[in-house]
Parts: sequence; C-alpha cells; structure tokens
Amino acid sequence: MTRIYLKKHKEEALLRFHPWVFSGAIAHIEGNPEEGDIVSVLSSEGAPLGVGHYQEGSICVRILEFRTETLTDNFLSQRIHTAYQMRQSLQLITPNNNTYRLIHGEGDFLPGLIVDVYADTAVLQAHSAGMHRMRQLIAETIVEQVPEVNNVYYKSESTLPFKRHFTDIQDGWLIHSGNQESEYWSKENGLEFSIDWLRGQKTGFFVDQRENRALVEHYSNGRRVLNMFCYTGGFSVYALRGGAQLVHSVDSSDKAIQLVQCNVNRNFPDCNRHEAFCRDAFAFLDNINAKTPYDLIILDPPAFAKHREAVKNALQGYKRLNYKAFSQIASGGILFSFSCSQAVDKDMFRLAVFSAAAMAGRKVRILHQLHQPQDHPISIYHPEGEYLKGLVLYVE
Ligand code: SAH
Repeated sequence: MTRIYLKKHKEEALLRFHPWVFSGAIAHIEGNPEEGDIVSVLSSEGAPLGVGHYQEGSICVRILEFRTETLTDNFLSQRIHTAYQMRQSLQLITPNNNTYRLIHGEGDFLPGLIVDVYADTAVLQAHSAGMHRMRQLIAETIVEQVPEVNNVYYKSESTLPFKRHFTDIQDGWLIHSGNQESEYWSKENGLEFSIDWLRGQKTGFFVDQRENRALVEHYSNGRRVLNMFCYTGGFSVYALRGGAQLVHSVDSSDKAIQLVQCNVNRNFPDCNRHEAFCRDAFAFLDNINAKTPYDLIILDPPAFAKHREAVKNALQGYKRLNYKAFSQIASGGILFSFSCSQAVDKDMFRLAVFSAAAMAGRKVRILHQLHQPQDHPISIYHPEGEYLKGLVLYVE
C-alpha cells in the first residue's frame, strides 16, 4: 500500500480525527498511487495516522479509519450498519416516513459518500474518486444491511465533473430488482412526494428540510403562504396540510413547477388553495400585486456561495432577497429564511438577514434558529459538515 508521510507537526489535525489531508501537509509519497486508491498516512516520524482514499487536488486523502495502517475487512458494512441503526434509533424510519439520509459523508465517517433512501430505493452520490470506485460494493452492502432497500441508483455525473479522466462515471442502476413502478412515491411525515432521481436535483429531493417543513406546517393555519424556490414543493404541501388559506409556489424551473403541481395533486386532489408560478424569485417579489400581503414567506434559495471566494457576493444576494421579503410581508407575518451555503457561516448569514430587516425598517424578532436534521449529523471533529442554517422571524 502507498505510504504518505506528512511534514513535521502536520499530524495534529489527524490526531484530532479531522478526516482531510491537504496536499500542503505532505512531505513525500512512497509509492505511485492512483486516484481512489486506499493509502496509508504516517507522521514525519512514521507513526500510523490513518488509512483513506487518495485523490489529486487540494484534499489529497480522505481518512476512512484513524490510527491504523490497514482497513478492517468489514469496515464498510460496519459503517453502513451503524448509520442505519442510528436512523432507526432516532425513530426516523416509520410507516409514515421512508425518506431519509442514510449516509451523510464525514458525518457518518464515510467522507465523500452521500446516500438518500426513498422507500425501497437508495440513491448513492460519490463526491470522491475513492467512493466512485467503491460504488458497486457500497450498493451491495446497503442492500445487505438495510432490509427495506432493494434498488440502488448511482447519481454522480454532477458531483464528479472534476474527474473527467474517469470515463466510467455514468448515472444508472447499480442494483435494480426490476419490480418498480414507473412513477415513484416516497413518504415524508405521512405526505407523499414524487422522486425523480433521473432528472432531479441532488438525489431527487431535499431531504434536509424535513423538520423545518413540519415547522412551516405548524405555523400555516389560516395564513397566506409564499414558498420561494419551491423545487418539489415540500414546504407548500406541508403548508396546505397545516391549513393555509392559500399557498403560492415559485421557482424559475419548469420541471420544478411540474413537480410541485404533481405533489400537491397527489396529497390534496381538487385543491383550490394552491397556485404555482414559473418565475425568477427576485422579479416575483418586486411585482407582487396581491391586495392582501403574504403573512408567511419561505426563502430557501440554492447555495449562493459554492466556495469561499463567492462569499461576499452571496451575502449581498441574501441581503437583497431578504430585503425584498421584509418589504412585502404583512404585519404579524412569519419569515422562514434559509442558507445552505457551507461557506457562509451562521453569523454571516444572520448579519445579512438582520441588515435587510433594518433596511426595510421592520421590527423583527427571532422565533427559531434552524439547522440540518438528525440524519445529516455533524461530526464534532469536522465542523465543515454544518451547512444548513435557518431563521424563523416574526415581523411586525
Ligand atoms: N425549497 C426546496 C429546495 C430549493 S432548491 C425544497 O424544500 O425542496 C433551489 C431551487 O431554486 C431550485 O429548484 C431552482 O430551480 C430554484 N431557483 C434557482 N434560482 C432561482 C431564481 N432566481 N428564481 C426562482 N427560483 C430559482
């Protein structure tokens, strides 16, 4: 096995279980590793620090097991078993809820791997060359460890574009039992959603907003709800169940508008409280001409900052968007405002939202501070795993 020796004093992060080895920390490499190979990492003095997946780029090794020179044979099945047990022990998998994240990368000590489960199908997404090369074994292990799952779909064309030299990155079935219906429905808190992993964003659905959607349901009774950046309409369907007077869903993508309509019809056939608009969010907020303003607005935009260099512009974007919402919302209204940009931290996001409130001259109080749910755990040794932030604000 290839051995990677770190420079003097560069072992500290690994000793604290942080799973990334940056290229700048490497003194020399003994061997000629290929991308995705399992390699061993050692301190400058030769002490074993861990074993992980090698990759070219700024993060050179993603550690799978610490303080060892070899991976235990059943390491993968153990990790997947533990992840599944944890979700079960958290009461996440019930007859009413078969939509959940099974593996959340570093948060489940499997850096580079995301797995979401939709009823009997798992959708696997690789973010590293190593996980890409292990995909078939991962799929087989999931089916072995998770009794409900008998299909595994691979969806990594959009997450591995930087690995163009791998000619075998194609989305498709890794395991397919063949008895699936063409329309695929998954249940979240008793509501049904059509999951389209073939064409959908991420693994087909944004599993991470489950708990926050339930909070929208709680506050929706009798309210006029505006769900901006609705995608599959998760928040809209919950708001309808919560007794909203009306729900307007907005997204700039045609496909999203079809999905939200399909999901609303499935859960609330003949519903006349919902309307969907295929529009740009910023333009929509500028041109609201409703006589009675919305009194619950959800802003869940895509990540405005995908990397550190984009943070400044992203903060401007959050400020502009939230300003528009604060300018429109009724007195006594509730604003749910989210950011899923990992590079924008909680404090920066708050500052952007609070500045927007001040600019709009509104009196605002914090009701809730939201984050990612329990099936998207954050390893305390890998704070970078925290990405979803939300504020629920009462606006006078
Ligand atoms: N709230 C959703 C997830 C949002 S994902 C949920 O709970 O599932 C972000 C969505 O924003 C995508 O569907 C994308 O099509 C949409 N989008 C991106 N830019 C937009 C814009 N300028 N105006 C309106 N929608 C936009």
